[in-house]
Amino acid sequence: MVRYFHLFTALLLASVSTLMGFSNSPPSTKRVAIIIDDLGNGLKGTDKIFSIKAPLTVAIMPLLRTSKEDAIRARKAGFEVILHLPMEFYHGKKSWLGPGAITTDMSTEAIKKQVRADLDSVPYAKGINNHMGSKATADERVVRAVLEVVKERNLFFVDSATSSDSKIIRVARELGVPVTKRDIFLDNINSRHDINRQLNRLIKRTVEKGDSIAIGHVGIQGDNTSRAIESFLPAIQHAGIQIVPVSSLLTIGDKNK
Ligand SMILES: [Zn+2]
Repeated sequence: MVRYFHLFTALLLASVSTLMGFSNSPPSTKRVAIIIDDLGNGLKGTDKIFSIKAPLTVAIMPLLRTSKEDAIRARKAGFEVILHLPMEFYHGKKSWLGPGAITTDMSTEAIKKQVRADLDSVPYAKGINNHMGSKATADERVVRAVLEVVKERNLFFVDSATSSDSKIIRVARELGVPVTKRDIFLDNINSRHDINRQLNRLIKRTVEKGDSIAIGHVGIQGDNTSRAIESFLPAIQHAGIQIVPVSSLLTIGDKNK
């Protein structure tokens, strides 16, 4: 009798799923994480990002006007929060780094102290990715100091991959810190046409190669990026791709990247 009851329940659930259209979706085996960088300063696109109905990950800059508020909003929206750590780069204006930046002229202790203070200004941060950083991520001493704090706090690091010489993945593996790396930037060129092309590339890459990580931004391109992501949600689902928080895609040693 119990067995029949279970069979009946299974059939009932199957028909409910069909009615609700779940059975039309291909099985979700491929996963993608979409990180939105540069939150914390009320930049263009911020409100739109928080209205998107998908488990995005937001990277919030430290010690800014809306760092804390954005972290709270993100949690309410069901997004994952990470700290967007400003790190020194080779070309550009120093003002792009903002407060709480890590530079190669800092002592190891000063770096650790700054990373801790930055983390404390972004509640709910489960990990860190780097803002800029072409110079600092290529400096092994600096990377090690940052990752030692990540380890001490039981967090993870996502290499935004702004330098081909980044030491993050190697040192993280050495220290046993969970780590992964950005695959595709969505909005390096700020036009809907180009952002759509990058989102199509993201789908293609995920279907062909598996789990992928994309990064978009609020700011100058914020309106275009947020609208493009929202408009691509059905296509992502149709391709059998599940959007997951970036913490679902971490590796400690095996990801062949
Ligand atoms: Zn950034």
